[in-house]
Amino acid sequence: MKILLHICCGPCAIMPIRRLLDEGHTVAGFFYNPNIHPLAEYLRRREGAAEVASRYGIEMHWALDEKDYDSQAWLQMVLPAFSRENPGGRCPLCWQQRLSKTAELAARLGFDAFSTSLLYSRRQRHEEIAEAGQSVARNLERNLDMGQQENLKPAGAPLFLYRDFRPDWQAGINLSKEWGIYRQPYCGCLFSENDRYANDLAKSNQNFTGHTLTER
Ligand code: SF4
Repeated sequence: MKILLHICCGPCAIMPIRRLLDEGHTVAGFFYNPNIHPLAEYLRRREGAAEVASRYGIEMHWALDEKDYDSQAWLQMVLPAFSRENPGGRCPLCWQQRLSKTAELAARLGFDAFSTSLLYSRRQRHEEIAEAGQSVARNLERNLDMGQQENLKPAGAPLFLYRDFRPDWQAGINLSKEWGIYRQPYCGCLFSENDRYANDLAKSNQNFTGHTLTER
């Protein structure tokens, strides 16, 4: 099959690409991640994805339009689903956005299927990502049937190719270190960055005890 693989970052893509190639598929990558914050982090992850793709010699597609990386628009999209009581409510929108764009590109370019390197991570909500992929594929098929995606080829909607890449977790870490691929310390968005460093902030705050503003 011809598969378009959504790539969230270089390290997460290493083993999914390898496995799909080993299965005999033709694989192309697509880097589309407007969730990544800040922009400097986005650029580092994109470089990492490019490095991995070039090691495998696979074709890559990049989202290069200005509106494809718009932090403000991304925050506006997820904020209605975010609350302190349910901070993870933002993630389904984040997956859906990236997978929808991947599915649409796959349809436009005549791929048989699409998948995502998000299915490699042991830290992600794996089952929900798989469900999001299936749902995106179903919606696209319905829209194509109803003629609502005029810009797409009428060849049919691509399938969502589910794979559990998690058993290759350690092999992917080892290879990313061996290849010197940038390894990110948090999932991607502003919220996940804050979560990642929350303990550091708490510890650091202790060092500042007593440094209060003096009232005049
Ligand atoms: S934690 Fe990760 S999946 Fe969830 S919204 Fe942030 S970047 Fe997206």
